[in-house]
Amino acid sequence: MVHDHQGRGAATGVTTQSPHESRPSRPASAGMTATGADYSMDGLSGEAMFSSGAGYTYDDFILLPGHIDFSAADVDLSTRLTRHITLQRPITSSPMDTVTESRMAIYMALLGGIGFIHYNNSIEEQAKEVRTVKRFKNGFITDPIVLSPEHRLSDIDAIKKTLGYSGIPITEDGSMGSRLLGIVTNRDIDFVTDRNTPLRDVMTTDLVTADQSASLDEANQILKSSKKGKLPLVDKNFHLVALISRTDLLKNRDYPLASKANNKSLLAGAAVSTRPQDKDRIDALVKEGLDVVIIDSSQGDSVYQIDLIRHIKHHYPELNVIAGNVVTTAQAKHLIEAGADALRVGMGAGSICTTQMVMAVGRPQATAVYRTAALAREYGIPIIADGGISTIGHITKAMALGASTVMMGGMLAGTEETPGEYYYRDGVRLKKYRGMGSLQAMREGSAHRYLNENDQPRLVAQGVTGSVVDKGSLTNYLPYLYQGICQGFQDIGVQSIPDLHRALYAGQTRFERRTPAAQKEGGVHNLHAYQMEML
Ligand code: NAD
Ligand code: IMP
Repeated sequence: MVHDHQGRGAATGVTTQSPHESRPSRPASAGMTATGADYSMDGLSGEAMFSSGAGYTYDDFILLPGHIDFSAADVDLSTRLTRHITLQRPITSSPMDTVTESRMAIYMALLGGIGFIHYNNSIEEQAKEVRTVKRFKNGFITDPIVLSPEHRLSDIDAIKKTLGYSGIPITEDGSMGSRLLGIVTNRDIDFVTDRNTPLRDVMTTDLVTADQSASLDEANQILKSSKKGKLPLVDKNFHLVALISRTDLLKNRDYPLASKANNKSLLAGAAVSTRPQDKDRIDALVKEGLDVVIIDSSQGDSVYQIDLIRHIKHHYPELNVIAGNVVTTAQAKHLIEAGADALRVGMGAGSICTTQMVMAVGRPQATAVYRTAALAREYGIPIIADGGISTIGHITKAMALGASTVMMGGMLAGTEETPGEYYYRDGVRLKKYRGMGSLQAMREGSAHRYLNENDQPRLVAQGVTGSVVDKGSLTNYLPYLYQGICQGFQDIGVQSIPDLHRALYAGQTRFERRTPAAQKEGGVHNLHAYQMEML
Protein backbone atom coordinates (compact mmCIF):
# COMPACT_ATOMS: atom_id res chain seq x y z
CA MET A 1 0.00 0.00 0.00
CA VAL A 2 1.43 3.35 -0.98
CA HIS A 3 0.61 6.16 1.41
CA ASP A 4 -0.28 9.68 0.50
CA HIS A 5 2.57 11.84 1.76
CA GLN A 6 0.77 15.14 1.77
CA GLY A 7 2.76 17.90 3.53
CA ARG A 8 2.01 18.49 7.17
CA GLY A 9 3.49 21.17 9.42
CA ALA A 10 7.15 20.69 10.27
CA ALA A 11 10.37 22.39 11.25
CA THR A 12 11.07 25.16 8.80
CA GLY A 13 9.43 27.03 5.97
CA VAL A 14 5.95 25.71 6.52
CA THR A 15 3.08 27.63 4.99
CA THR A 16 -0.58 27.09 5.74
CA GLN A 17 -2.02 23.60 5.70
CA SER A 18 -3.61 22.52 2.53
CA PRO A 19 -7.40 22.90 2.70
CA HIS A 20 -7.96 19.74 0.69
CA GLU A 21 -6.52 17.59 3.47
CA SER A 22 -9.84 17.51 5.25
CA ARG A 23 -11.83 16.78 2.11
CA PRO A 24 -12.54 13.15 1.24
CA SER A 25 -10.52 12.13 -1.81
CA ARG A 26 -12.23 10.97 -4.94
CA PRO A 27 -12.71 7.20 -4.95
CA ALA A 28 -10.48 4.96 -7.05
CA SER A 29 -11.96 1.56 -6.43
CA ALA A 30 -10.83 -1.23 -8.74
CA GLY A 31 -11.43 -0.26 -12.33
CA MET A 32 -14.21 2.23 -11.60
CA THR A 33 -14.44 6.02 -11.78
CA ALA A 34 -16.35 8.12 -9.24
CA THR A 35 -19.45 7.73 -11.42
CA GLY A 36 -19.19 3.96 -11.61
CA ALA A 37 -17.91 3.82 -15.20
CA ASP A 38 -15.04 1.50 -16.09
CA TYR A 39 -12.10 3.81 -16.76
CA SER A 40 -9.83 1.00 -17.97
CA MET A 41 -11.82 0.78 -21.23
CA ASP A 42 -9.80 3.68 -22.68
CA GLY A 43 -6.09 4.42 -22.81
CA LEU A 44 -3.33 3.05 -20.61
CA SER A 45 -2.39 3.32 -16.96
CA GLY A 46 0.88 5.17 -16.26
CA GLU A 47 2.61 1.90 -15.46
CA ALA A 48 1.49 0.28 -18.73
CA MET A 49 2.58 3.30 -20.76
CA PHE A 50 6.04 3.62 -19.19
CA SER A 51 6.80 -0.11 -19.23
CA SER A 52 7.31 -0.26 -22.98
CA GLY A 53 11.06 0.40 -22.78
CA ALA A 54 10.83 3.60 -24.82
CA GLY A 55 11.62 6.98 -23.27
CA TYR A 56 8.82 9.56 -23.57
CA THR A 57 8.69 13.33 -23.47
CA TYR A 58 5.66 15.40 -22.49
CA ASP A 59 4.59 15.74 -26.12
CA ASP A 60 4.63 11.98 -26.69
CA PHE A 61 1.40 11.38 -24.77
CA ILE A 62 -1.92 12.92 -23.90
CA LEU A 63 -4.15 12.61 -20.84
CA LEU A 64 -7.69 11.42 -21.41
CA PRO A 65 -10.48 13.55 -19.93
CA GLY A 66 -12.30 12.44 -16.77
CA HIS A 67 -15.66 13.39 -15.26
CA ILE A 68 -16.24 17.00 -14.15
CA ASP A 69 -18.41 17.65 -11.10
CA PHE A 70 -16.67 20.77 -9.75
CA SER A 71 -15.61 24.16 -11.04
CA ALA A 72 -12.05 25.09 -11.99
CA ALA A 73 -12.13 27.58 -9.11
CA ASP A 74 -12.45 24.62 -6.70
CA VAL A 75 -9.09 23.17 -7.74
CA ASP A 76 -6.51 23.39 -4.97
CA LEU A 77 -2.91 23.72 -6.21
CA SER A 78 -1.15 23.58 -2.83
CA THR A 79 1.66 21.06 -2.81
CA ARG A 80 4.88 19.89 -1.18
CA LEU A 81 8.22 21.35 -2.24
CA THR A 82 10.21 19.18 0.18
CA ARG A 83 9.58 16.74 2.97
CA HIS A 84 8.85 19.74 5.25
CA ILE A 85 7.85 22.68 3.08
CA THR A 86 4.38 23.25 1.63
CA LEU A 87 3.74 25.80 -1.10
CA GLN A 88 0.40 27.19 -2.21
CA ARG A 89 1.41 26.88 -5.88
CA PRO A 90 3.56 24.25 -7.67
CA ILE A 91 5.95 26.51 -9.64
CA THR A 92 9.63 27.19 -8.87
CA SER A 93 12.20 29.24 -10.78
CA SER A 94 15.53 27.75 -11.72
CA PRO A 95 18.86 28.80 -10.16
CA MET A 96 20.18 30.33 -13.38
CA ASP A 97 21.86 33.71 -13.71
CA THR A 98 19.35 34.92 -16.31
CA VAL A 99 16.38 33.71 -14.24
CA THR A 100 16.67 34.05 -10.46
CA GLU A 101 18.17 36.75 -8.31
CA SER A 102 16.49 38.40 -5.31
CA ARG A 103 13.81 40.34 -7.20
CA MET A 104 12.62 37.20 -8.98
CA ALA A 105 12.83 35.16 -5.76
CA ILE A 106 10.74 37.75 -3.91
CA TYR A 107 7.97 37.75 -6.51
CA MET A 108 8.02 33.97 -6.94
CA ALA A 109 7.51 33.64 -3.16
CA LEU A 110 4.87 36.41 -2.98
CA LEU A 111 2.88 34.61 -5.68
CA GLY A 112 2.92 31.24 -3.91
CA GLY A 113 5.97 29.52 -5.42
CA ILE A 114 9.68 29.86 -4.73
CA GLY A 115 12.74 31.10 -6.64
CA PHE A 116 16.21 29.62 -6.21
CA ILE A 117 19.05 32.12 -6.31
CA HIS A 118 21.91 31.09 -8.61
CA TYR A 119 25.55 30.78 -7.55
CA ASN A 120 27.34 32.12 -10.60
CA ASN A 121 28.69 34.83 -8.29
CA SER A 122 30.83 35.31 -5.17
CA ILE A 123 29.71 34.00 -1.78
CA GLU A 124 29.18 37.60 -0.62
CA GLU A 125 27.02 38.43 -3.65
CA GLN A 126 24.84 35.35 -3.24
CA ALA A 127 24.51 35.94 0.52
CA LYS A 128 23.36 39.51 -0.17
CA GLU A 129 20.66 38.21 -2.54
CA VAL A 130 19.40 35.78 0.11
CA ARG A 131 19.47 38.57 2.73
CA THR A 132 17.34 40.77 0.47
CA VAL A 133 14.71 38.02 0.17
CA LYS A 134 14.68 37.22 3.89
CA ARG A 135 14.43 40.91 4.88
CA PHE A 136 11.71 41.71 2.38
CA LYS A 137 8.63 43.25 3.95
CA ASN A 138 5.81 44.03 1.59
CA GLY A 139 5.84 47.80 1.04
CA PHE A 140 9.22 48.32 2.76
CA ILE A 141 12.25 49.12 0.61
CA THR A 142 15.24 47.61 2.39
CA ASP A 143 17.86 48.46 -0.25
CA PRO A 144 17.01 51.99 -1.40
CA ILE A 145 19.51 54.25 -3.17
CA VAL A 146 21.20 56.31 -0.46
CA LEU A 147 23.70 59.18 -0.86
CA SER A 148 26.04 61.10 1.45
CA PRO A 149 26.08 64.87 2.15
CA GLU A 150 29.21 65.09 -0.01
CA HIS A 151 27.38 63.92 -3.17
CA ARG A 152 26.31 66.62 -5.64
CA LEU A 153 23.00 67.58 -7.22
CA SER A 154 24.32 66.11 -10.46
CA ASP A 155 24.37 62.67 -8.75
CA ILE A 156 20.64 63.02 -8.04
CA ASP A 157 20.07 64.09 -11.66
CA ALA A 158 21.83 60.92 -12.86
CA ILE A 159 19.71 58.71 -10.59
CA LYS A 160 16.50 60.41 -11.69
CA LYS A 161 17.45 59.96 -15.32
CA THR A 162 18.24 56.23 -15.12
CA LEU A 163 15.89 55.07 -12.36
CA GLY A 164 13.27 57.79 -12.16
CA TYR A 165 13.50 58.13 -8.36
CA SER A 166 13.23 61.23 -6.29
CA GLY A 167 13.32 61.47 -2.51
CA ILE A 168 16.79 60.13 -1.74
CA PRO A 169 17.78 59.62 1.92
CA ILE A 170 21.12 61.10 2.96
CA THR A 171 23.15 59.24 5.55
CA GLU A 172 26.49 59.97 7.18
CA ASP A 173 28.52 57.70 4.88
CA GLY A 174 26.02 57.35 2.06
CA SER A 175 25.00 53.76 2.86
CA MET A 176 22.07 51.94 4.46
CA GLY A 177 22.52 51.31 8.17
CA SER A 178 24.39 54.59 8.62
CA ARG A 179 23.01 57.60 10.59
CA LEU A 180 20.20 59.40 8.78
CA LEU A 181 20.96 63.12 8.22
CA GLY A 182 18.34 64.28 5.75
CA ILE A 183 16.37 63.64 2.60
CA VAL A 184 16.56 65.33 -0.80
CA THR A 185 13.32 65.72 -2.74
CA ASN A 186 12.46 67.44 -6.03
CA ARG A 187 11.24 70.45 -4.08
CA ASP A 188 14.72 70.92 -2.57
CA ILE A 189 16.60 70.97 -5.85
CA ASP A 190 14.32 71.96 -8.73
CA PHE A 191 15.34 75.63 -8.80
CA VAL A 192 19.03 75.28 -7.89
CA THR A 193 21.03 76.18 -11.00
CA ASP A 194 24.49 75.06 -9.82
CA ARG A 195 24.27 71.25 -10.17
CA ASN A 196 27.65 70.96 -8.46
CA THR A 197 26.11 72.04 -5.14
CA PRO A 198 26.74 69.46 -2.37
CA LEU A 199 23.64 67.77 -1.03
CA ARG A 200 24.42 68.97 2.52
CA ASP A 201 23.45 72.50 1.37
CA VAL A 202 20.03 71.55 0.01
CA MET A 203 18.78 68.51 1.96
CA THR A 204 15.74 68.72 4.23
CA THR A 205 16.81 68.02 7.80
CA ASP A 206 13.41 68.52 9.39
CA LEU A 207 12.53 64.84 9.05
CA VAL A 208 9.40 62.80 9.62
CA THR A 209 10.53 59.24 10.44
CA ALA A 210 9.06 56.07 11.95
CA ASP A 211 10.60 53.47 14.22
CA GLN A 212 11.81 50.30 12.47
CA SER A 213 9.14 48.29 14.32
CA ALA A 214 6.29 50.24 12.65
CA SER A 215 3.76 48.15 10.76
CA LEU A 216 2.81 48.98 7.19
CA ASP A 217 -0.55 50.33 8.43
CA GLU A 218 1.14 52.63 10.96
CA ALA A 219 3.60 53.83 8.34
CA ASN A 220 0.71 54.45 5.97
CA GLN A 221 -1.00 56.64 8.58
CA ILE A 222 2.16 58.69 9.17
CA LEU A 223 2.63 59.20 5.42
CA LYS A 224 -0.99 60.29 5.07
CA SER A 225 -0.93 62.81 7.93
CA SER A 226 2.53 64.23 7.10
CA LYS A 227 1.74 64.45 3.36
CA LYS A 228 5.32 63.33 2.63
CA GLY A 229 6.31 61.17 -0.34
CA LYS A 230 8.89 59.03 1.50
CA LEU A 231 9.06 57.78 5.08
CA PRO A 232 12.46 56.65 6.42
CA LEU A 233 12.41 53.94 9.11
CA VAL A 234 15.18 54.21 11.69
CA ASP A 235 16.51 52.27 14.66
CA LYS A 236 17.03 53.72 18.14
CA ASN A 237 20.35 55.31 17.06
CA PHE A 238 18.67 56.98 14.07
CA HIS A 239 20.38 54.59 11.64
CA LEU A 240 18.44 54.12 8.38
CA VAL A 241 16.82 50.65 8.22
CA ALA A 242 14.22 50.94 5.43
CA LEU A 243 12.22 53.38 3.37
CA ILE A 244 8.52 53.47 2.56
CA SER A 245 7.29 55.26 -0.55
CA ARG A 246 3.81 56.74 -0.92
CA THR A 247 3.59 55.71 -4.60
CA ASP A 248 4.52 52.12 -3.74
CA LEU A 249 1.89 52.07 -1.00
CA LEU A 250 -0.76 53.24 -3.42
CA LYS A 251 -0.04 50.34 -5.77
CA ASN A 252 0.63 47.93 -2.95
CA ARG A 253 -1.39 44.73 -3.11
CA ASP A 254 -1.95 41.76 -0.90
CA TYR A 255 -0.28 38.45 -1.58
CA PRO A 256 -2.47 35.86 0.14
CA LEU A 257 -0.54 32.95 -1.40
CA ALA A 258 2.89 34.13 -0.20
CA SER A 259 5.34 31.36 0.72
CA LYS A 260 6.52 32.16 4.22
CA ALA A 261 8.69 30.64 6.92
CA ASN A 262 7.44 30.33 10.49
CA ASN A 263 8.88 33.76 11.33
CA LYS A 264 6.75 35.27 8.52
CA SER A 265 9.74 36.11 6.32
CA LEU A 266 9.51 34.99 2.69
CA LEU A 267 10.93 31.54 1.98
CA ALA A 268 14.41 31.78 0.49
CA GLY A 269 16.06 29.12 -1.65
CA ALA A 270 19.49 29.07 -3.27
CA ALA A 271 21.73 26.66 -5.15
CA VAL A 272 25.31 25.57 -4.47
CA SER A 273 27.73 23.23 -6.23
CA THR A 274 29.39 20.11 -4.83
CA ARG A 275 32.85 21.71 -4.90
CA PRO A 276 34.52 21.61 -1.45
CA GLN A 277 34.71 25.43 -1.24
CA ASP A 278 30.91 25.64 -1.40
CA LYS A 279 30.74 24.43 2.21
CA ASP A 280 31.71 28.04 3.09
CA ARG A 281 29.00 29.27 0.74
CA ILE A 282 26.36 27.15 2.52
CA ASP A 283 27.53 28.48 5.86
CA ALA A 284 27.20 32.09 4.67
CA LEU A 285 23.74 31.46 3.21
CA VAL A 286 22.46 29.73 6.34
CA LYS A 287 23.62 32.75 8.38
CA GLU A 288 21.33 34.89 6.21
CA GLY A 289 18.38 32.61 7.01
CA LEU A 290 18.30 30.32 3.96
CA ASP A 291 15.36 27.88 4.18
CA VAL A 292 16.15 25.45 1.41
CA VAL A 293 19.26 24.63 -0.60
CA ILE A 294 19.55 22.96 -4.00
CA ILE A 295 22.66 20.93 -4.66
CA ASP A 296 23.10 21.73 -8.31
CA SER A 297 24.50 19.17 -10.70
CA SER A 298 23.38 17.65 -13.98
CA GLN A 299 24.41 14.20 -12.70
CA GLY A 300 23.60 14.14 -8.99
CA ASP A 301 24.47 10.54 -8.22
CA SER A 302 28.08 11.22 -7.17
CA VAL A 303 30.17 10.71 -4.07
CA TYR A 304 30.63 14.50 -4.01
CA GLN A 305 26.91 15.05 -3.68
CA ILE A 306 26.28 12.26 -1.19
CA ASP A 307 29.08 13.61 1.03
CA LEU A 308 27.64 17.12 0.81
CA ILE A 309 24.10 15.98 1.73
CA ARG A 310 25.53 14.25 4.81
CA HIS A 311 27.61 17.32 5.67
CA ILE A 312 24.55 19.60 5.48
CA LYS A 313 22.33 17.23 7.44
CA HIS A 314 24.99 16.98 10.16
CA HIS A 315 25.78 20.70 10.46
CA TYR A 316 22.46 22.34 9.51
CA PRO A 317 19.69 19.87 10.40
CA GLU A 318 17.00 22.54 9.90
CA LEU A 319 18.02 23.28 6.31
CA ASN A 320 15.89 21.52 3.67
CA VAL A 321 18.04 19.87 1.01
CA ILE A 322 16.96 19.37 -2.59
CA ALA A 323 19.33 16.93 -4.24
CA GLY A 324 19.80 16.09 -7.91
CA ASN A 325 19.57 16.06 -10.73
CA VAL A 326 18.44 12.49 -11.21
CA VAL A 327 16.51 10.63 -13.89
CA THR A 328 16.68 6.97 -12.79
CA THR A 329 15.33 5.11 -9.78
CA ALA A 330 18.83 4.02 -8.72
CA GLN A 331 20.11 7.61 -8.69
CA ALA A 332 17.01 8.70 -6.76
CA LYS A 333 17.46 5.93 -4.19
CA HIS A 334 21.09 6.90 -3.50
CA LEU A 335 20.25 10.55 -2.85
CA ILE A 336 17.13 9.83 -0.78
CA GLU A 337 19.03 7.37 1.38
CA ALA A 338 21.78 9.98 1.86
CA GLY A 339 19.11 12.28 3.39
CA ALA A 340 17.60 14.39 0.58
CA ASP A 341 14.32 16.15 1.45
CA ALA A 342 13.30 16.44 -2.21
CA LEU A 343 14.70 15.51 -5.60
CA ARG A 344 15.19 17.61 -8.70
CA VAL A 345 14.54 15.53 -11.80
CA GLY A 346 15.77 16.13 -15.34
CA MET A 347 18.88 15.57 -17.39
CA GLY A 348 19.14 16.98 -20.86
CA ALA A 349 15.56 18.26 -21.17
CA GLY A 350 16.18 22.00 -20.69
CA SER A 351 15.38 24.43 -23.51
CA ILE A 352 18.99 25.72 -23.54
CA CYS A 353 20.52 22.27 -23.00
CA THR A 354 22.94 20.31 -25.19
CA THR A 355 23.80 17.66 -22.58
CA GLN A 356 22.21 14.72 -24.40
CA MET A 357 24.12 15.64 -27.56
CA VAL A 358 27.47 16.27 -25.86
CA MET A 359 27.45 13.71 -23.05
CA ALA A 360 25.30 11.03 -24.70
CA VAL A 361 23.60 10.67 -21.33
CA GLY A 362 20.20 11.76 -20.00
CA ARG A 363 16.59 10.62 -20.27
CA PRO A 364 13.42 11.88 -21.92
CA GLN A 365 11.70 13.95 -19.28
CA ALA A 366 8.27 12.31 -18.96
CA THR A 367 9.82 8.89 -18.34
CA ALA A 368 12.35 10.40 -15.92
CA VAL A 369 9.58 12.06 -13.90
CA TYR A 370 7.33 8.99 -13.83
CA ARG A 371 10.08 6.56 -12.76
CA THR A 372 11.73 8.73 -10.09
CA ALA A 373 8.43 9.94 -8.64
CA ALA A 374 7.18 6.38 -8.19
CA LEU A 375 10.32 5.48 -6.23
CA ALA A 376 10.40 8.71 -4.21
CA ARG A 377 6.76 8.25 -3.19
CA GLU A 378 7.71 5.09 -1.32
CA TYR A 379 9.95 7.27 0.87
CA GLY A 380 7.51 10.18 1.16
CA ILE A 381 9.85 12.45 -0.82
CA PRO A 382 8.41 14.93 -3.34
CA ILE A 383 10.03 15.52 -6.69
CA ILE A 384 10.52 18.65 -8.78
CA ALA A 385 10.15 18.14 -12.54
CA ASP A 386 12.98 20.34 -13.83
CA GLY A 387 13.36 21.50 -17.43
CA GLY A 388 11.63 20.87 -20.72
CA ILE A 389 8.43 22.71 -19.83
CA SER A 390 7.32 24.96 -22.64
CA THR A 391 3.51 25.01 -22.30
CA ILE A 392 0.99 25.12 -19.46
CA GLY A 393 -0.06 21.61 -20.47
CA HIS A 394 3.47 20.34 -19.75
CA ILE A 395 3.12 21.57 -16.14
CA THR A 396 -0.12 19.60 -15.72
CA LYS A 397 1.41 16.55 -17.40
CA ALA A 398 4.46 16.68 -15.08
CA MET A 399 2.18 16.57 -12.05
CA ALA A 400 0.01 13.86 -13.59
CA LEU A 401 3.24 11.78 -13.77
CA GLY A 402 3.89 12.18 -10.04
CA ALA A 403 5.81 15.48 -9.72
CA SER A 404 4.77 17.72 -6.84
CA THR A 405 6.26 20.90 -8.31
CA VAL A 406 7.88 22.00 -11.54
CA MET A 407 11.03 24.05 -12.08
CA MET A 408 11.24 26.34 -15.06
CA GLY A 409 13.90 28.44 -16.69
CA GLY A 410 12.80 29.29 -20.21
CA MET A 411 9.09 29.72 -19.42
CA LEU A 412 9.89 32.33 -16.75
CA ALA A 413 12.85 34.00 -18.50
CA GLY A 414 11.85 37.27 -20.13
CA THR A 415 9.58 38.35 -17.28
CA GLU A 416 10.26 41.77 -15.77
CA GLU A 417 11.49 40.31 -12.50
CA THR A 418 14.34 38.30 -14.03
CA PRO A 419 17.89 39.75 -14.10
CA GLY A 420 19.09 41.56 -17.23
CA GLU A 421 17.92 44.35 -19.48
CA TYR A 422 15.44 44.15 -22.35
CA TYR A 423 16.70 44.89 -25.84
CA TYR A 424 15.13 44.98 -29.30
CA ARG A 425 15.93 42.81 -32.28
CA ASP A 426 13.84 43.01 -35.48
CA GLY A 427 11.28 45.03 -33.54
CA VAL A 428 10.81 42.33 -30.86
CA ARG A 429 11.50 43.09 -27.18
CA LEU A 430 13.81 40.40 -25.84
CA LYS A 431 15.85 39.36 -22.82
CA LYS A 432 18.89 37.11 -22.71
CA TYR A 433 18.42 33.51 -21.47
CA ARG A 434 21.38 31.15 -21.22
CA GLY A 435 22.35 27.75 -19.86
CA MET A 436 24.52 27.63 -16.75
CA GLY A 437 26.72 25.20 -18.64
CA SER A 438 27.05 27.54 -21.65
CA LEU A 439 30.56 28.78 -22.34
CA GLN A 440 29.43 32.33 -21.65
CA ALA A 441 28.00 31.55 -18.19
CA MET A 442 30.98 29.39 -17.25
CA ARG A 443 33.47 32.06 -18.30
CA GLU A 444 31.65 34.77 -16.42
CA GLY A 445 31.19 33.02 -13.14
CA SER A 446 31.78 29.40 -12.55
CA ALA A 447 34.85 28.60 -14.63
CA HIS A 448 36.77 27.67 -11.45
CA ARG A 449 34.60 24.56 -11.28
CA TYR A 450 35.87 23.44 -14.62
CA LEU A 451 39.61 23.54 -14.03
CA ASN A 452 41.67 20.39 -14.37
CA GLU A 453 44.41 19.25 -11.98
CA ASN A 454 46.86 21.77 -13.53
CA ASP A 455 44.38 24.61 -13.19
CA GLN A 456 43.85 24.61 -16.96
CA PRO A 457 40.27 25.14 -18.10
CA ARG A 458 38.43 22.14 -19.49
CA LEU A 459 35.34 23.87 -20.68
CA VAL A 460 32.96 21.69 -22.65
CA ALA A 461 29.71 23.52 -23.16
CA GLN A 462 26.48 21.72 -22.23
CA GLY A 463 24.26 24.70 -22.91
CA VAL A 464 23.69 27.63 -25.23
CA THR A 465 23.08 31.38 -24.96
CA GLY A 466 19.88 32.67 -26.51
CA SER A 467 17.01 35.08 -26.06
CA VAL A 468 13.33 34.94 -25.13
CA VAL A 469 10.50 37.39 -25.70
CA ASP A 470 9.26 39.85 -23.10
CA LYS A 471 6.55 38.18 -20.99
CA GLY A 472 5.61 41.19 -18.84
CA SER A 473 5.38 40.97 -15.09
CA LEU A 474 5.21 37.76 -13.07
CA THR A 475 2.28 39.33 -11.21
CA ASN A 476 0.15 38.80 -14.35
CA TYR A 477 1.95 35.83 -15.86
CA LEU A 478 1.95 33.39 -12.92
CA PRO A 479 -1.79 33.77 -12.16
CA TYR A 480 -2.40 33.09 -15.85
CA LEU A 481 -0.38 29.85 -15.63
CA TYR A 482 -2.18 28.88 -12.39
CA GLN A 483 -5.56 29.37 -14.03
CA GLY A 484 -4.51 27.20 -16.98
CA ILE A 485 -3.38 24.41 -14.63
CA CYS A 486 -6.68 24.54 -12.70
CA GLN A 487 -8.62 24.18 -15.93
CA GLY A 488 -6.44 21.22 -16.96
CA PHE A 489 -7.12 19.54 -13.61
CA GLN A 490 -10.82 20.10 -14.10
CA ASP A 491 -10.70 18.37 -17.51
CA ILE A 492 -8.86 15.40 -15.95
CA GLY A 493 -11.51 15.34 -13.20
CA VAL A 494 -9.28 15.84 -10.14
CA GLN A 495 -9.36 18.65 -7.64
CA SER A 496 -5.88 18.62 -6.11
CA ILE A 497 -2.30 17.46 -6.65
CA PRO A 498 -2.51 14.64 -4.06
CA ASP A 499 -5.75 13.46 -5.75
CA LEU A 500 -3.98 13.53 -9.10
CA HIS A 501 -1.19 11.38 -7.66
CA ARG A 502 -3.66 8.93 -6.11
CA ALA A 503 -5.44 8.65 -9.46
CA LEU A 504 -2.10 7.97 -11.19
CA TYR A 505 -1.07 5.14 -8.88
CA ALA A 506 -4.59 3.66 -8.85
CA GLY A 507 -4.43 3.43 -12.66
CA GLN A 508 -7.37 5.82 -12.85
CA THR A 509 -5.54 8.49 -14.85
CA ARG A 510 -5.54 7.30 -18.43
CA PHE A 511 -2.79 8.06 -20.90
CA GLU A 512 -2.49 7.58 -24.62
CA ARG A 513 0.66 7.70 -26.73
CA ARG A 514 0.52 10.19 -29.58
CA THR A 515 1.73 9.27 -33.04
CA PRO A 516 3.62 11.98 -34.96
CA ALA A 517 0.36 12.67 -36.83
CA ALA A 518 -1.55 12.94 -33.55
CA GLN A 519 1.04 15.42 -32.26
CA LYS A 520 0.64 17.45 -35.42
CA GLU A 521 -3.13 17.40 -35.00
CA GLY A 522 -2.75 18.49 -31.35
CA GLY A 523 -0.91 21.66 -32.40
CA VAL A 524 -2.14 24.56 -34.49
CA HIS A 525 -2.23 23.41 -38.11
CA ASN A 526 -3.28 24.34 -41.63
CA LEU A 527 -3.38 28.08 -41.02
CA HIS A 528 -1.71 30.62 -43.26
CA ALA A 529 -0.69 32.66 -40.19
CA TYR A 530 -1.71 32.96 -36.57
CA GLN A 531 -0.83 34.72 -33.37
CA MET A 532 -0.36 32.95 -30.04
CA GLU A 533 -2.17 35.23 -27.59
CA MET A 534 -1.41 34.76 -23.95
CA LEU A 535 -2.90 37.39 -21.73
P1 NAD B 1 28.82 19.96 -11.65
O1 NAD B 1 29.41 20.98 -10.72
O2 NAD B 1 28.00 18.92 -11.02
O3 NAD B 1 29.94 19.22 -12.48
C1 NAD B 1 31.03 19.86 -13.11
C2 NAD B 1 32.23 18.92 -13.04
O4 NAD B 1 32.81 19.04 -11.75
C3 NAD B 1 31.87 17.43 -13.19
O5 NAD B 1 32.87 16.80 -13.96
C4 NAD B 1 31.87 16.91 -11.77
O6 NAD B 1 32.13 15.53 -11.67
C5 NAD B 1 32.97 17.75 -11.15
N1 NAD B 1 32.86 17.87 -9.69
C6 NAD B 1 31.80 18.33 -8.99
N2 NAD B 1 32.10 18.32 -7.65
C7 NAD B 1 33.35 17.87 -7.51
C8 NAD B 1 34.22 17.64 -6.40
N3 NAD B 1 33.83 17.90 -5.15
N4 NAD B 1 35.45 17.16 -6.66
C9 NAD B 1 35.87 16.91 -7.92
N5 NAD B 1 35.10 17.09 -9.01
C10 NAD B 1 33.86 17.57 -8.82
O7 NAD B 1 28.03 20.81 -12.73
P2 NAD B 1 27.38 20.38 -14.14
O8 NAD B 1 26.67 19.09 -14.02
O9 NAD B 1 28.40 20.51 -15.20
O10 NAD B 1 26.30 21.51 -14.31
C11 NAD B 1 26.69 22.88 -14.41
C12 NAD B 1 25.47 23.77 -14.45
O11 NAD B 1 24.74 23.52 -15.64
C13 NAD B 1 24.49 23.54 -13.32
O12 NAD B 1 23.87 24.76 -13.03
C14 NAD B 1 23.49 22.56 -13.88
O13 NAD B 1 22.20 22.68 -13.32
C15 NAD B 1 23.46 22.98 -15.33
N6 NAD B 1 23.23 21.80 -16.18
C16 NAD B 1 22.07 21.12 -16.05
C17 NAD B 1 21.80 20.04 -16.85
C18 NAD B 1 20.49 19.31 -16.75
O14 NAD B 1 20.19 18.55 -17.66
N7 NAD B 1 19.70 19.47 -15.71
C19 NAD B 1 22.74 19.62 -17.78
C20 NAD B 1 23.95 20.31 -17.86
C21 NAD B 1 24.18 21.41 -17.07
P1 IMP C 1 14.00 25.00 -19.24
O1 IMP C 1 12.96 25.36 -18.22
O2 IMP C 1 13.52 24.02 -20.24
O3 IMP C 1 14.57 26.22 -19.89
O4 IMP C 1 15.18 24.26 -18.44
C1 IMP C 1 15.77 24.80 -17.29
C2 IMP C 1 16.66 23.75 -16.67
O5 IMP C 1 17.73 23.40 -17.56
C3 IMP C 1 17.40 24.20 -15.42
O6 IMP C 1 16.60 24.19 -14.28
C4 IMP C 1 18.55 23.20 -15.35
O7 IMP C 1 18.20 21.97 -14.79
C5 IMP C 1 18.85 22.96 -16.81
N1 IMP C 1 20.02 23.71 -17.23
C6 IMP C 1 20.47 24.91 -16.82
N2 IMP C 1 21.57 25.27 -17.48
C7 IMP C 1 21.84 24.26 -18.34
C8 IMP C 1 22.86 24.04 -19.30
O8 IMP C 1 23.73 24.87 -19.53
N3 IMP C 1 22.80 22.88 -19.96
C9 IMP C 1 21.84 21.95 -19.72
N4 IMP C 1 20.83 22.13 -18.88
C10 IMP C 1 20.85 23.28 -18.17
